[in-house]
Amino acid sequence: MMELDNIECISSSDGMDDDEGTAHHLPHPFLKPHHVGSGNGGCGGVVGIGGIPAQVISPATSVHELLECPVCTNSMYPPIHQCHNGHTLCSTCKSRVHNRCPTCRQELGDIRCLALEKVAESLELPCKYFSLGCPEIFPYYSKLKHEALCNFRPYNCPYAGSECSVAGDVPFLVAHLRDDHKVDMHTGCTFNHRYVKSNPREVENATWMLTVFHCFGQYFCLHFEAFQLGMAPVYMAFLRFMGDENEARNYKYSLEVGANGRKLIWEGTPRSIRDSHRKVRDSHDGLIIQRNMALFFSGGDRKELKLRVTGRIWKEQPNPDAGVCIPNLCS
Ligand SMILES: [Zn+2]
Ligand SMILES: [Zn+2]
Ligand SMILES: [Zn+2]
Ligand SMILES: [Zn+2]
Repeated sequence: MMELDNIECISSSDGMDDDEGTAHHLPHPFLKPHHVGSGNGGCGGVVGIGGIPAQVISPATSVHELLECPVCTNSMYPPIHQCHNGHTLCSTCKSRVHNRCPTCRQELGDIRCLALEKVAESLELPCKYFSLGCPEIFPYYSKLKHEALCNFRPYNCPYAGSECSVAGDVPFLVAHLRDDHKVDMHTGCTFNHRYVKSNPREVENATWMLTVFHCFGQYFCLHFEAFQLGMAPVYMAFLRFMGDENEARNYKYSLEVGANGRKLIWEGTPRSIRDSHRKVRDSHDGLIIQRNMALFFSGGDRKELKLRVTGRIWKEQPNPDAGVCIPNLCS
């Protein structure tokens, strides 16, 4: 649900491109160019339709837009509701508005807008990631399902530890990580990283670090974090690939940490950033260091965490086993 919401957040600007794109490529009668004058969201020449107040409808009104919930702007799916005055809204919004129409403030009641549901059924629409390269066209009601899995959908920001709602393609996210999250960027396929923390007694879910590596023309996110595994505090390092899972399988990586003649080695396949950072962590798909061992590797008086993690990324023939579903070991 969260992921869907995130995707929806960026849809308002896509929608405009979609309309323009589809007007050129699709012969569908509902998708004929309706643009009067220039631009979307202009307020000249406003027309009210079927009791929907004029201010809700821009000159570029299309059926597509009528199917946008005027409250949350998401696409509406059955049951679509309306008030006594004909203002439509989606079922999610309906449950939030305490029986008051958000448009006219009248009592909302429980009226379905069957006509609009039927119209929706007859529509074929391009995937909303049309402007990002997706060529697919779908009946309205299967569109949402596809869009949740569309290969062209934007990636969520891979930064962990904060609720960042930014989404976009890989180059955009790389710039965003560098500029907005001040993430360290490295070029090359080997790394040698030190993680130092002065009070390793405080192990909270909030301790994490991210470094981005650029090699083979791709970007990889190296995560390092501390969390509580059951009762035991542990540190974990893992790599995520900034791209789809299929492509991630072309790469492998290794991580090593050690000192005093001992070392831990992890070798794995990077996970796609389509898999949330939390999902990777909860499946323990990475190098896990128990705190006692981490303090041992740190040397000194166990007051400071000083881990040297070295690693390497390499390209490999696609590994058929790499896509296996890794169980969530926490449960
Ligand atoms: Zn809504
Ligand atoms: Zn109303
Ligand atoms: Zn698509
Ligand atoms: Zn972000």
